[in-house]
Amino acid sequence: MKKLLSVIMAAVLCMCLMTACGNAGQEAAAEPAEAETTEAANTTEPAKEEAEDAEPAEEENAAEEAGESEALADGVLNVGTNAEFPPFEYVDDNGEPDGFDIALIKAIGEKLGVEVQVENMEFDALVAAIGKKIDVAIAGMTVTEERQQTVDFSNPYYMAVQYVILPEGSEIAAAEDLKGKAIGVQLGTTGDFIAEDIDDAEVSQYNKALDAVNDLVNGRLDCVIVDKNPALVFESRFEGQVTAVDGAQFGFETEEYAISIPKGDTALADKINGALQEMMEDGTFDALVAEYIEGGE
Ligand code: GLN
Repeated sequence: MKKLLSVIMAAVLCMCLMTACGNAGQEAAAEPAEAETTEAANTTEPAKEEAEDAEPAEEENAAEEAGESEALADGVLNVGTNAEFPPFEYVDDNGEPDGFDIALIKAIGEKLGVEVQVENMEFDALVAAIGKKIDVAIAGMTVTEERQQTVDFSNPYYMAVQYVILPEGSEIAAAEDLKGKAIGVQLGTTGDFIAEDIDDAEVSQYNKALDAVNDLVNGRLDCVIVDKNPALVFESRFEGQVTAVDGAQFGFETEEYAISIPKGDTALADKINGALQEMMEDGTFDALVAEYIEGGE
């Protein structure tokens, strides 16, 4: 039953990914939906009918059978993020988390009629905190099979890829060149996982990608591997000192960001996906992309 369920979930994700890509902002739509990091991307279309006919999972509790999510029962959606990932999340001038993801989850909360409370945490602690300290996490988080062992994901809302930040004048230009290099990453991120697979690489893990970029500028690292949009923000912050190069040049695969939710909370997944879908259809989503991502930090 569990296995069947996960196949169904993957199929539903896939369908929604297709829809999401059709409607997402220019930046998001510009990259083809060829991601291979998730099961979803590899699942075929016909499975959707199975998903619609499927019986509810045995372990679903009464609240979920009634279409209610326990996470929303108190009227508050507790959201975890790591506000060190511009333009998706950063700390604003008032010391509050802001950014595309924060605006997105607040808009979702409004549609669901719940108050959204955002908690700023270490990125590496988010997945384990879901269903405990926080209800959901939004943090430019890539859907990976490993994380899917612990949490479920909403439909993907953004396509991304890892970038390689290099000091100006670096000769690193292809995957081969990364071997044996001193590489900075943010702890527990997909950039970290990629770096750890590079032969003889000396990987330094930071809690903030910005600290890695500072070490790069100071000559302590050969490169930093981090997601595209933050990489572009850092490139402009350190203009003339670093260059951000598309990871496709190094053979890195496309990734998809989604909201992570407690495993098995299908009622919450449905509600979040419904709100996301509405925002993609009514232009709210594209407006947020224009404001936060295309318009800069
Ligand atoms: N997308 C990357 C991941 O999920 C990095 C996210 C982040 O640092 N906030 O691992």
